[in-house]
Amino acid sequence: MPVTPFHLGPAVVLKAACPRAFSLGAFAVVQAAIDVETVGRVLAGVTPLHGPLHTLAGAVLVALAAVAPSRYGLTAAYAALARRLRGDGRGERWLRAELGPVSWTAAAVGALIGGVSHVLLDALIHADVWPLAPWRQGNALWVPGAFAWTHGACAALGVAGLLAWVGRGRGSRTPSA
Ligand SMILES: [Zn+2]
Repeated sequence: MPVTPFHLGPAVVLKAACPRAFSLGAFAVVQAAIDVETVGRVLAGVTPLHGPLHTLAGAVLVALAAVAPSRYGLTAAYAALARRLRGDGRGERWLRAELGPVSWTAAAVGALIGGVSHVLLDALIHADVWPLAPWRQGNALWVPGAFAWTHGACAALGVAGLLAWVGRGRGSRTPSA
């Protein structure tokens, strides 16, 4: 399957470890932006399914392009969501605090880690991802049969990270931004 949410698993662990310095939203924006390529190629019937955006160079460019839209777009979207939760009397205090403004640092760190990790994880499970193209062809990271255990590991990390993130948020007196 060319598009999966499994990249988010390790990212939730990072979010739990450094909530202020890492934007999970910016990370997710970059995941979706890079996989627009695979969706487009599937719809167009083009192979290989992974092209220039699934290289380290392409992914870093996508990440850099996503920093400002993530910072401003997510900040506005989070503010609207927080207002709505407050208005409805829903959402725990720590969760509403998590919906604070996205800093430049958090947007940049989230976007760049999102881009690089997307290519590395996809390279592990898809032979047609060429991480070092256009300078080097081929994929030295591909591990045949890694698809199932990589997804399992990412899902397990996602559950562990979510528990740690929620636990940290509920336990802190000054919720993280
Ligand atoms: Zn991908």
